[in-house]
Amino acid sequence: MIKENVKGLLTELPDGVQLVAAAKTRTSAEILEAAAAGIKIIGENYVQEAQKVFRDVGRKVLWHFIGHLQKNKVKKIVEIADMIQTVDSYDLAEEIDKRCLNAGKIMPVLIEINSGREKQKAGVLPEDAEEAVRNISKFSNIKIKGLMTMGPGSEEARPYFTKTREIFEQIKKMNLPGVEMKYLSMGMTNSYKVALEEGANIVRIGSLIFGERGDAND
Ligand SMILES: *Cc1c(COP(=O)(O)O)cnc(C)c1O
Repeated sequence: MIKENVKGLLTELPDGVQLVAAAKTRTSAEILEAAAAGIKIIGENYVQEAQKVFRDVGRKVLWHFIGHLQKNKVKKIVEIADMIQTVDSYDLAEEIDKRCLNAGKIMPVLIEINSGREKQKAGVLPEDAEEAVRNISKFSNIKIKGLMTMGPGSEEARPYFTKTREIFEQIKKMNLPGVEMKYLSMGMTNSYKVALEEGANIVRIGSLIFGERGDAND
């Protein structure tokens, strides 16, 4: 099934759109199956889980961190991640910068926008996005590559995706030093079609690739 799902999605997605297979709760075997079918980027939400599957899968794929990142876990994820999509505070960015400096790395990051202004969700509020990008762009071991948002589920997400795209375009126009507004990461299984219409060029898809998850709370 994973194979057919991946092939179907890769055929469906327009050129220039990157597919991140959101692999929380999935096994190394499932990830390897997805990779064999053509998945190039795996998204992980939890540091411990990422470490576990990384041991088996290694650099056969690229690893994007897409979960809420705690400062005390940054050192571990810096060793694995090729991109951190969920930078939502100056303090977190500072910690990533410090750990990357020690590791001799420059980490591509996306700034997470809380486009739905949801209390339970992480991210920078839309009106604070520009300032956050300006401040975080000063770190030399971080490279801002765009924005990411979750947004509320499915079709209702459209106005939040639109809003995030507008912020993306505005910041892009400013040509801030050290900032490359290249990637707009929006859309999951129930919302990726809407997200593509609203300009996403990274979609993060879990269930549609791996099947329904056992859990119900994310
Ligand atoms: C789980 C998750 C996804 C994918 O969700 P699905 O509904 O399974 O496609 C995308 N992005 C993030 C941040 C996630 O945690």
